[in-house]
Amino acid sequence: MMEVSEAVAAVLREASAFEPHAISLLDALGLVLAEDVRADADSPPFDKSLVDGFAVRLADCVASLPVIETVAAGQVPTRSLDRPAAIQIMTGAPLPVGAEAVVPVELTSEQIGASGGVHVSIPIKVASWKLDTNILRRGASTKLGDLVVAAGSELRPQELGALAECGLARVTARRRPRVAVLATGDELVPVEQAPGPGQIRNSNETMLCAQLLRACAEPVPLGIARDERAHLRERIDIGLQSDVLVLSGGVSMGEKDLVPSELAAAGVRQVFHKANVKPGKPIWFGVLDRRPNSRTLVFGLPGNPVSSLVCFELFVRPALRRMMGVSSAESVAVKARLTAPHTTKGERPTYQPARLEWQSDGPIVTAIPWVGSSDLRATVAANSMALFPVGDQTYEAGSVIEVIAW
Ligand code: AMP
Ligand code: MG
Repeated sequence: MMEVSEAVAAVLREASAFEPHAISLLDALGLVLAEDVRADADSPPFDKSLVDGFAVRLADCVASLPVIETVAAGQVPTRSLDRPAAIQIMTGAPLPVGAEAVVPVELTSEQIGASGGVHVSIPIKVASWKLDTNILRRGASTKLGDLVVAAGSELRPQELGALAECGLARVTARRRPRVAVLATGDELVPVEQAPGPGQIRNSNETMLCAQLLRACAEPVPLGIARDERAHLRERIDIGLQSDVLVLSGGVSMGEKDLVPSELAAAGVRQVFHKANVKPGKPIWFGVLDRRPNSRTLVFGLPGNPVSSLVCFELFVRPALRRMMGVSSAESVAVKARLTAPHTTKGERPTYQPARLEWQSDGPIVTAIPWVGSSDLRATVAANSMALFPVGDQTYEAGSVIEVIAW
C-alpha cells in the first residue's frame, strides 16, 4: 500500500500540462499564465501628481505665486515652471516640466492678484520639503521590458489588472480540465428526490462538482451509476471522454464494488489501488491512453463523503494543478499549533477536519470532533485538514502539526 506522498508522486507522473492557448482576459480568471509578460511601457508612463494641488519649484515657495495654468487628469501641460509660478494640477495629471513638488490644495489659499490673475499662497515650510514630494516619476513602479507576470502564475484579479495595464486583451493560458463526475451506488437518489427505505441522497456529486469549480476545472456531472456491470460500464465509457473521470463509491472490497474491474475492462491501466490514509484508504487511480498526447486520468474515490472530499484535495487537486500549469502542483501544508490536546488511535496517517486560524503569533489549529468518514457536518465546521501521523499518541496543546487549508 502506497504512502500518500508516493501516491501523489505517482499521480503527478501521469499528469502533464495542457498546451497553451489564447483566451480573453476575464475568461482567464483562475487559470495559469503560460508565458512571461513584460511591460510594454514604463508605469506610470509619465511623471504624475499624486494629489490635487499646485505644482511648484521648492525655492519659489517663499511668496504668493501666480497660477499660470490648470492641468486635469487626461490633459497635458503646455507651460513649464521656469520662473516663480504655480501650476494647478489634479491627481494623476502629467507634471509640468520643472516641477519639484505638488502642494496639496488643502494647504494653500487662492487670491486674485493686483493684475486680476489668480495667485496661490503656499506655507513657507514647503520650501524645505524633499524633492518630488507628492510626485510619482515615470517608470517608478515598472520600467519598459520589466517582467510583470511570470509564466506559471495563477491569474487572480490583480494579475489580470496588471496584464490589462500591459495592453493585453487576450493572454496565453492553459485550458480548464474537463472532469466527469460519476457517483455509483444502488442506494443513491438524486438530491431532489425523497430517499426511500435504505436510500440516501447523492451528495457527493454536488460536493465534487463544487470542488472542481473552485479548482477552476469544468465539471461534467454524469448522475448516478447503478451497481450493475452494464450500466456502470456505459457511464464509465462516457466519463472516459473527459480529461479526468472522478468516480465516487464502489472501490472497496464489497461484492457490489465493481468500479476497479469495470475500469480495467474499459482499458484503464491501474496505477495504484489503496493508499495508507484515513479517510480514503480504498482510493483507486489509473490512466487511459486514448490517442497519442490524449489521456484520461481516472480517480475512484471511496464513497463516504469525507473520504471523497479529502481524497479529492489530496490526489485530484494536484493533478488538476499540473494540467493547468501551476509551477508547484503539490498541496502546501502549513505548520500550526494545536489549541487543545488531541489523542490519536492512528492505524493510518489521518487527515482530520480542522479549523485553521491565524493569530498574531502564528497559525493555530483545532481538530473538529467527527464520527468518521460519513460525517459531512464536521467538514462544514472545518476549513482545513490536520495531519496526525500513524501511531497511538496524545498531542499536547501547543504541539506543532501540519495542516492543509481547503
Ligand atoms: P462505497 O464506497 O460505495 O462502499 O460507499 C461507502 C459509503 O458512502 C456508503 O455508506 C455509501 O452509501 C456512501 N456513499 C456512496 N456514494 C455516495 C454519494 N454519492 N453521496 C453520498 N454518500 C455516498
Ligand atoms: Mg457503493
